[in-house]
Amino acid sequence: MKLKDNRFEQMINKINNVSKYYTCPNECNAMCCKKSKIRFDIDEYQKILKMVGPASREIIETQTVALPKGSDYFRKFEGKCPLLNDFKCDIYANRPWVCQRYPFEFLNHDYDVIIKPCSLGLKVILDYFVLLKSSYDIDIEEITPNIDIAYGKWIEDINLGVMPVEGVAIAESKKDLTEIVKYLQKTTPEIRQKKRNELITKIKTPHHIGFTHFQNTRFKV
Ligand code: SF4
Ligand code: SF4
Repeated sequence: MKLKDNRFEQMINKINNVSKYYTCPNECNAMCCKKSKIRFDIDEYQKILKMVGPASREIIETQTVALPKGSDYFRKFEGKCPLLNDFKCDIYANRPWVCQRYPFEFLNHDYDVIIKPCSLGLKVILDYFVLLKSSYDIDIEEITPNIDIAYGKWIEDINLGVMPVEGVAIAESKKDLTEIVKYLQKTTPEIRQKKRNELITKIKTPHHIGFTHFQNTRFKV
């Protein structure tokens, strides 16, 4: 997706600032490259074709499919990304925006951001919930009555190597991404982990009954 105005650029900066505080666990084995939608917008598609070697160029040209006119993206890979080689990206320096930002995704219409609950994304989500709880004194079950169901499903999916379908929306329209950056700046990794653990113990025994949908407007799927 193209940067349409300064607000997108600011959001990308904030996402980059958040991402600096997290690392992907080795055991994830690049699940995002195997299970998520790898899409190119038209400008980056053309730019990447010019930057990469002939083998990768051929893969991109022959193994992506066109997306309908009017969609935010131009072409996409179907299924596992064929540029993933021995858990390394063949075009890492030139990889598409969606890959650079993962597990963050933009919601185009209202400048909010979706976080996918992969191993890394789940840490961001829990930190976000901790922040909401401490800053706004919101009970986690008040925010989303189905958190136990959702959390159980995420953990189950991650353990099975399945990319969770749902995401949690960070309400940047309410400046929540900005607050996350501040929270990360003033806490240590140890404190964050302790607070995540405390929060997890408040979530009821994880179980699931299929996909769930958050009912609070602050969270969307
Ligand atoms: S972004 Fe998430 S899915 Fe991708 S490698 Fe990191 S932890 Fe795994
Ligand atoms: S382009 Fe690279 S980073 Fe993106 S999905 Fe493919 S292998 Fe992963």
